[in-house]
Amino acid sequence: MSNRTYICVECRTAKRAEAAGGLKTDLRCSSCGGTLWELSHRWRIPKKADKKGWEELAEIVAQSRPARDAFIQARGESKLAEIDRQIEAFSARKPSEKREKFLRDLARERSQVLRQYLDGGVELDSNR
Ligand SMILES: [Zn+2]
Repeated sequence: MSNRTYICVECRTAKRAEAAGGLKTDLRCSSCGGTLWELSHRWRIPKKADKKGWEELAEIVAQSRPARDAFIQARGESKLAEIDRQIEAFSARKPSEKREKFLRDLARERSQVLRQYLDGGVELDSNR
């Protein structure tokens, strides 16, 4: 996996970590504890005192955020629908060890999708 730069434009901090393809990560800003923005390209990271440089980056983040959020949300929802379809199909089978294992795996996959794509839950999102 390649590495990407993650930034917090409020605190003007940056760190390198494994690429997540825009998915939500557990990475947090070391200064404010907020979520970090994964840069999709290799940007020159301005020095902390470079107000103009960071304002430019902040603008790029603000411009890219709605499209990225919508894309990730849509992909998460379609993944979730597919998992739920499989859970339903397996649940209808007669009980067996194999069925239980598949259902366990699907449940794990489902919570991973919720975490990475949908901020922990679709229910949470609709309340915002
Ligand atoms: Zn911060």
